[in-house]
Amino acid sequence: MMKKLEELVRPNIWRLKPYSSARDEYSGHEAHVFLDANENPFNTTVNRYPDPLQRDLKQVIAKVKNVAAEQIFLGNGSDEAIDLCYRCFTEPGKDNVVAIEPTYGMYRVCADINDVEYRAVLMNERFEMNASDMLDACDEHTKLIWICTPNNPSGNSINSAEILTILDTFPGIVVVDEAYGDFTQKPSFRTLLNRYPNLIVLNTMSKAWGAAAIRMGMAFASKDIIDIFNKVKYPYNVNQLTQNKALELLKDPFQTHQWVRMLIQERNRVIVAFQQLPLCVKVYPTDANFFLAEVNDAQAIYNYLMENGIIVRNRNRVAMCGNCLRITVGTRNENNELLGALRKY
Ligand SMILES: *Cc1c(COP(=O)(O)O)cnc(C)c1O
Repeated sequence: MMKKLEELVRPNIWRLKPYSSARDEYSGHEAHVFLDANENPFNTTVNRYPDPLQRDLKQVIAKVKNVAAEQIFLGNGSDEAIDLCYRCFTEPGKDNVVAIEPTYGMYRVCADINDVEYRAVLMNERFEMNASDMLDACDEHTKLIWICTPNNPSGNSINSAEILTILDTFPGIVVVDEAYGDFTQKPSFRTLLNRYPNLIVLNTMSKAWGAAAIRMGMAFASKDIIDIFNKVKYPYNVNQLTQNKALELLKDPFQTHQWVRMLIQERNRVIVAFQQLPLCVKVYPTDANFFLAEVNDAQAIYNYLMENGIIVRNRNRVAMCGNCLRITVGTRNENNELLGALRKY
């Protein structure tokens, strides 16, 4: 059972009266003379402040993602939502968070920035999460649990039954980061929002939607949680150019589906070829647009590829990833260049 939201939110944030921007105070589209925000009347298309709540964009995302618009937070990348989780729910120097290990590095960086204790719980050698290990790491000061699925850098999906056990048992907030969810057939945890008031699901346009440059991150949660994010975020956190581009991309989800299909097919082809390389020790199962591979000498292969103008991610020093490279699936030509270089290694 989830604690009352008031017990989970930082007391100063619970009491916070948000800044009210000019564009917050007027709502409705009847007005046509805007003399309220000290904007320049010239240079139209970018002279006006953007909608602080990105209402038009949320209407479209609500349809694509099948959630209510009031269950959506949009931010400057998922990274903004990750940081907001800390700033809204954790008291620096007092609270802690629990996360699977290894996982996405930003959860720890944001914990460190916010002076919040980060408790990393090692998964087993197949990168499987055990719910009771996670719950055992919690105490009365644990506000958040971080679960990334499919997980970065391992690539595998985390067992849904284990995640559900945590959602059912943990009295704090559970964040499920589905940055790579668009690459799997598995149902999104978004579909369980109405059942779990302690659930936050993250998503992004940086991966399957092919738009890392526009910085468009999404969080889905109860209206009560979204309202708290909205009062803490910068007033104009998503700029107009990003909102325009996101709207344009979301109008053509078919393009994204084609990219995803093609990338998965490419991924499977590259993995088969990679496994035949003498330098390959093993490739871990993946549900994402990348794979984690154990090789005989990660640092040497990483350096060799770099000398050939090919950059992969060396995860050699990450927990449980000794001698592992994380390799993103590129175009067919890029992947062939990688394989060609490795065959000559
Ligand atoms: C790439 C990635 C993101 C996306 O971050 P953005 O700030 O939206 O670009 C989020 N979570 C994980 C686990 C990722 O790998």
